[in-house]
Amino acid sequence: MKISEIFCSLQGEGLLVGRPSVFVRLTGCPLRCRWCDTKYAWDSKSGREVSIQQILEQVDTYSNKTRSIVITGGEPMIQDGLSELCQRLKADRMHITIETAGIEFIDRLECDLMSISPKLSNSQSGKSDERINIDSLSKLLRKYDCQLKFVIEDESDFQVAVELLAKLPPIDAGKVFLMPQAATRSELAERSPMVAQLCLKSGFSFGQRLHVLLWDTQRGK
Ligand code: SF4
Repeated sequence: MKISEIFCSLQGEGLLVGRPSVFVRLTGCPLRCRWCDTKYAWDSKSGREVSIQQILEQVDTYSNKTRSIVITGGEPMIQDGLSELCQRLKADRMHITIETAGIEFIDRLECDLMSISPKLSNSQSGKSDERINIDSLSKLLRKYDCQLKFVIEDESDFQVAVELLAKLPPIDAGKVFLMPQAATRSELAERSPMVAQLCLKSGFSFGQRLHVLLWDTQRGK
């Protein structure tokens, strides 16, 4: 598989925020989000080729700290080998989160939490039918235990998210997170109050970005 980096940190977003986790970042993403904080993982050729066995060995070096793994990207759902990687991690009794934009569906993945962040128009990443795949999103929501994370820059993004949710299978509002669009600590501080108000109005959860709060723009944290 093509890997950008493997490191141990705290989960920064969603239901498991704050949990020590091993992050396996796969390379390659067909989207080009304006505010993406992992642009170095866009190009599938940019990573190093490693076997699944090598990934497992590196993950195992953190086994004294955590049994949680986050498979992220780039877009991990487009890499060959993901099913086998998840199978082998599950055999090692890992708790598996997959971070995805929801543009692809794979059946029968060993996955404890499918963490989906549909890309709204504020991402400016190409055509809407490339960013938002209703069929894939619906299948993922029906098949897996999911959380949905929306990046919110202003109130119009909130309206777009609500309109999208109306087209999808129902999901518990507590598993829908509104996250401030923030690549830096100062952006996080600036946009958090506006997003907090939207959460209070809607019943959706406030999506913390703990890694930005703690480490600002540092990579591999
Ligand atoms: S989908 Fe994720 S990895 Fe891909 S460009 Fe957007 S933010 Fe970056």
